[in-house]
Amino acid sequence: MSVDMAGRVFSALKAEPGLCAIHLAGGEATLRLDALLEVVRLADGMGIPMAYLETNAAWCADRATTREKLDALRQAGLPGLLVSCSMFHNEFVPFARTRTCIEEGTQVFGRHNVMVWLPHLYETLASLPDEKATHTLEEFCAHTGMRLDNPEVPELYSVIPGGRAPEALRNCYVPQPAAAFRGGRCHDLLRTTSHFHIDVYGNLFTGLCAGIAPGNIDDLHPAITPEAFPVFSTLCAEGPHGLMTMAAERHGFEPRDDGYAGKCDLCYHVRRHLHATGDYPELQPADYYED
Ligand code: SF4
Repeated sequence: MSVDMAGRVFSALKAEPGLCAIHLAGGEATLRLDALLEVVRLADGMGIPMAYLETNAAWCADRATTREKLDALRQAGLPGLLVSCSMFHNEFVPFARTRTCIEEGTQVFGRHNVMVWLPHLYETLASLPDEKATHTLEEFCAHTGMRLDNPEVPELYSVIPGGRAPEALRNCYVPQPAAAFRGGRCHDLLRTTSHFHIDVYGNLFTGLCAGIAPGNIDDLHPAITPEAFPVFSTLCAEGPHGLMTMAAERHGFEPRDDGYAGKCDLCYHVRRHLHATGDYPELQPADYYED
């Protein structure tokens, strides 16, 4: 996200009387530390309450540099951190860096302002051999005695089986036919704005449903009608099975023979099909749907 776009997002959020606090996430926002510092200063200067920055700690190679960067972020106005801690991150980030980020972060922001996500995986990762190395998922499973093709593997990190996650973890899930998801409406999840995200283009996502934009920073409160937002409205009323039926009738969608990891997996498959028609501008951003 550009600093300019961040400023536009903050202006839109400033007009929200119910705004509690924002969190900054990615990707990995520390990849462009100078821009991140500017964004934090901007939020602070505009009076936008901040909660924390999410980070994968890949940048925490040594304590001195980590401390320097965390100090700079705190001085810019950042109040806390959320540090990702999982076997999926450990495939790319040595645990030593996760530990450094958490320990130095605690020094800088205080114990109550550093969240470990998820804390129950911290000790398990700490027990892996050579914390300066990364470990494959196979190595993690061998170490913990888990089978790789086990639903408990993604559940350990509360992975939502949507987007690209089921593609990477397909063997962990017991596939279910599309018909198994008949009747499951998504009204409550899609209507929740207690936790929401705004993407790099200014699109609003409610709940945790990425790729469905019922608003954007130019209009965070549009009138949601079935005509204007057919995908959002159908998912609210009838869930992904209802959306599948609509996509089959209008656009020849056919479900996969080998089934789905969960309802969000079916939802993503149907939405990709709908996005390819070009008829559904609420399906944003385009790169979420394209290979
Ligand atoms: S099925 Fe679709 S709309 Fe429902 S919770 Fe999953 S991603 Fe969101």
